[in-house]
Amino acid sequence: MGSSAIQIPSRLPLLLTHEGVLLPGSSLRISVESARNLQLVKSRLLRGASVRSTIIGVVPNTRDPDSEAQELPHLHRIGTAGIAVQIVGSNWPKPHYTLLITGICRFNILELVKEKPFPVAKVEQLDHLEQYTDGIGELSDLSQQFYKYAVQLVEMLDMSVPVVAKLRHLLDSLPKETLPDILASIIRTSTNEKLQILDAVGLEERFKKTIPLLVRQIEGLKLLQKTWKSKPSDEKRIVAIRSIRKNNQIPGRPLHLDLLEQEDEDDGDDVVILEKKIKGTNMPEQAMKVCMKEIKRLKKMPQSMPEFALTRNYLELMVELPWNKSTTDHLDLHAARVLLDHDHYAMQKLKQRVLEYLAVRQLKNNLKGPILCFVGPPGVGKTSVGRSIAKTLGREFYRIALGGVCDQSDIRGHRRTYVGSMPGRIVNGLRTVGVSNPVFLLDEIDKLGKSLQGDPAAALLEVLDPEQNHSFTDHYLNVSFDLSQVLFIATANTTATIPPALLDRMELIQVPGYIQEEKMEIAHRHLIPKQLELHGLTPQQIQIQQEATEGIISRYTREAGVRSLERKIGAICRAVAVKVAETQHKVTKSNCPPITEKEDKESVCEETKDDSITDVALPPEMPIVIDRHALKDILGPPIYEMEVSQRLSQPGVAIGLAWTPLGGEIMFVEASRMEGEGQLTLTGQLGDVMKESAHLAISWLRSNAKKYHLTNAAGSFDLLDNTDIHLHFPAGAVTKDGPSAGVTIVTCLASLFSGYLVRSDVAMTGEITLRGLVLPVGGIKDKVLAAHRAGLKRVILPKRNEKDLDEIPANMREDLEFVTAFCLDDVLNAAFDGGFPAESRHSILNSKL
Ligand code: ADP
Repeated sequence: MGSSAIQIPSRLPLLLTHEGVLLPGSSLRISVESARNLQLVKSRLLRGASVRSTIIGVVPNTRDPDSEAQELPHLHRIGTAGIAVQIVGSNWPKPHYTLLITGICRFNILELVKEKPFPVAKVEQLDHLEQYTDGIGELSDLSQQFYKYAVQLVEMLDMSVPVVAKLRHLLDSLPKETLPDILASIIRTSTNEKLQILDAVGLEERFKKTIPLLVRQIEGLKLLQKTWKSKPSDEKRIVAIRSIRKNNQIPGRPLHLDLLEQEDEDDGDDVVILEKKIKGTNMPEQAMKVCMKEIKRLKKMPQSMPEFALTRNYLELMVELPWNKSTTDHLDLHAARVLLDHDHYAMQKLKQRVLEYLAVRQLKNNLKGPILCFVGPPGVGKTSVGRSIAKTLGREFYRIALGGVCDQSDIRGHRRTYVGSMPGRIVNGLRTVGVSNPVFLLDEIDKLGKSLQGDPAAALLEVLDPEQNHSFTDHYLNVSFDLSQVLFIATANTTATIPPALLDRMELIQVPGYIQEEKMEIAHRHLIPKQLELHGLTPQQIQIQQEATEGIISRYTREAGVRSLERKIGAICRAVAVKVAETQHKVTKSNCPPITEKEDKESVCEETKDDSITDVALPPEMPIVIDRHALKDILGPPIYEMEVSQRLSQPGVAIGLAWTPLGGEIMFVEASRMEGEGQLTLTGQLGDVMKESAHLAISWLRSNAKKYHLTNAAGSFDLLDNTDIHLHFPAGAVTKDGPSAGVTIVTCLASLFSGYLVRSDVAMTGEITLRGLVLPVGGIKDKVLAAHRAGLKRVILPKRNEKDLDEIPANMREDLEFVTAFCLDDVLNAAFDGGFPAESRHSILNSKL
C-alpha cells in the first residue's frame, strides 16, 4: 500500500460526507450534492491538471446529515486524505457528482483556514507507518492474531470466485499494518464502529478495535453456513460473497478489489427494486422489452461504471412516465363559459372562439384538427387563457417556453450516448404533470430559433401532427410515447416568424391589446385582488383609487397588455405591506390596546410619552388609500408624462405609428438640416424599405417645394442646395423597417422646411408613392390603440384602410378623430393646425382643379 511513502500537503480542501467513513486503503463512493462539496469538486478536481494527483481530505459529517445547511457543521477531528479515482457527473434530477475516492492515510485537523466556498484546513499527516516493525512485542501478537482471523474469514468464502482468490492473495502480499483498515471496510460494520477505527490512530488500538469485528463476522458466517446446508453450491457462493459485501451497508470497497473485474455488485437490491417498479407500470410492450434489456445489462454492470448511473436514471424516468395515467375530461360548455368570463375581462371574441373550439372537440370526441394559437402582444392574457382551458377541462397544465430554443434536442431529447444526456421538454413535461393528457402551452412559438443542431420546428411539427404524434419518439427514451391525448395550445407575438409548416397546422386567434377603460376594469376586477392576495393584504388595509389606476396606466406604463400594470400594482402592494407590517409591529410592541381609557393608556405606556408613541397607540389608519400623491411617492415621478407635446415643440418632428410584435407604438421622426452638399443621413437602425421611404419623401418634397413654399435656409426652392438633411428615428437602438413611415417622414420634413409645427396631437401612418399617393398599410388596430394610449387625438391613415376602423371599439372611436388620406396633400392638411400653410393652400386648390 505504501502510504508511508506518500507525503500529503499541509493544507487540504475538506469534503464533508455523511455517506460513510473512508478508511485508508479502501474506496468509498460519495455522492456530492451540497453547494460546498460541489464547489470543491469544480474548483479542485475538475479544473487543472490530473484529478488523480489532487489529494483531498474526506471528513465524516456525522452530526449533520443535512449537509445543505449553510453553517459549517462541527467537524470530526480526524479525516482521511484521498484521491478521486473516478468522477461521474450528472445534471439530472439535479446537478451532482459521484466520486469514487481511495483513502491514502489519516490526518488530524489542526486549524480551519477558510470556510467558504468550501472548507480548507491545516492538517497533520498521521499514519507514518514506517515506524512499524514486524515481529516485536504486543503489536506483533495483535498483528498475527488479526492475520489469522482475516485468513479464516476469507477461507470461509468460495475460493473459485476470482475476487475471493485475489483477496486471499492480498492478505499475504500487503503489509500487515494496512489490513485492519482494509478488512474493516469490507466486513459488516456500523458507521459508529468505522468512526472508532478511523479514530484509532495508534496501530495497536486499531488492531484491538478491528479484531472483535472480524470475529463477529466470522461467527455470523458460521451461523449462515449452517442454514445453507441444503442449498445448491452455486447459490451458496453468491450469498456468501454478498453477505460480506452487501450486508455491509456502507459502500466502501478495498482499493485492490476495485482493480478487479467483478461479477457481483452491491447494487443488486436497487436493481431488483427498479425491476419490480418497471413491472408494476403499464408501459407498452415495446417499452417494457427495452427496460428489461436495460435491467439485464444493469445487473451485469459494476456500479462504478458511468453508464450505470445513466442507465438507472433512464429506467427511473421510464417508471415515472405516465404511460397509462390520464385525467377524465369533464367539459361542460356552460361551466366553461362561466369560468372563462370569471377569469378574464373583455376578450369576447377570443373566448367565443375558444368555446367553439372546445365544443367541436367534444362533439368529435378527439383532438385531431388544428392547434389553437393565440397571437398578440405580451401581457394580454394568452397564457392565462391557456390555463383556464386546462381548468375547464379538468386537465393538468404545463407551459413549455420555446423562446430561444434553437436545438432540436431541446424538443426531442439527446441520445443516451453521453453523460448529461436528457429527455426533451415534451417528455420532461409529461413526467412533471404525471398524466398523459395534459394541456401543453407552447409559449412563444414565434421565437423558435434555428441552428446547426437541427431545426426544432421540424421536431415540433412531429409533436403536433396528429398523424404522427401517437408514436412520438424522444431520442433519450428511444421508444415511442403516445402524445395524441395531449391538448396543445400555442402562443406567439407575431405570425411573421412562425415557420410556415407550423403555421399551417394552427388556427390563429388574434388577441389585440387593451384600451384604457378595459385596463381599468382588468386592474380592479383581477389584477388588484390577485396582487393583494399575493402580498397578504386585504381591502381593509389598502384601497387603490380609480385615479391611481388611471395614473399608472397613462403615466407609468405604455404597453398593449397589462403586464407592467400588474407589476406596478405589485410594487404598490409591497410598499403598503411594509407599512402595514410596521404598524402592526409597533402596536404589539407598544403593548397598548388600540382603544384604551386615557388613564389606562397613561399607566401602560408611561415611560413612552413622546409623539411617535401617541401615534402608535391610536388605531392604525386603515385602509391605506392610494391616490395620485401616494402613487408618486411609491413609484417615483411619472415616466411618460408630457413627453409628446414636449417633443413636438419645434419644427421638424412628427409622430408616426408603428406596428411591432409587442403591439402598436407611437414613433417619433426627427429631422434637422445643416449646411452641406445635399447629403441625406439616416440614423436609428433603419431597414432598407424605410431608407427608401426617406428618399421618396425627399424627392416628392423637392419636386413640390414651390407648390408648398418650402425653402432651404438660403430661401431657395432647391431644398438640398448647400444643405444636408439628417433624419433620425428614436429609439435609436431598436431596428425599424417597413413602408408605413412614409407619410410621417414627409410631414416631418415639410415641417422642417416650412418652419411650421406639426400638431402635437396627431399621429399618422401610410405608405407613399413618388407621385404623392398614400397607400394602405397593416396593423391599423394596434396602431390606433397605441395612439389612444399616448393620449393623441387625431389619427391620419390611408383612405383604403378605412374599412379597418370597424374593428376599433366604439368608445375609442369617440375619443379619436380619424382623417383618411388619399394623397399627401390630405396628410399635410390634417397634420398642421388650420391645414398646411395658408399660402400654399390656394395653390393646392388650384392644382386640384
Ligand atoms: P401573455 O401570455 O399574453 O403574455 P399573461 O397571460 O401572462 O399574458 O397575462 C399577464 C397577466 O395579465 C396575467 O396575470 C393575466 O391574468 C392578466 N390578464 C391579462 N389579460 C387579462 C384579462 N382580460 N382579464 C384578467 N386578467 C388578465
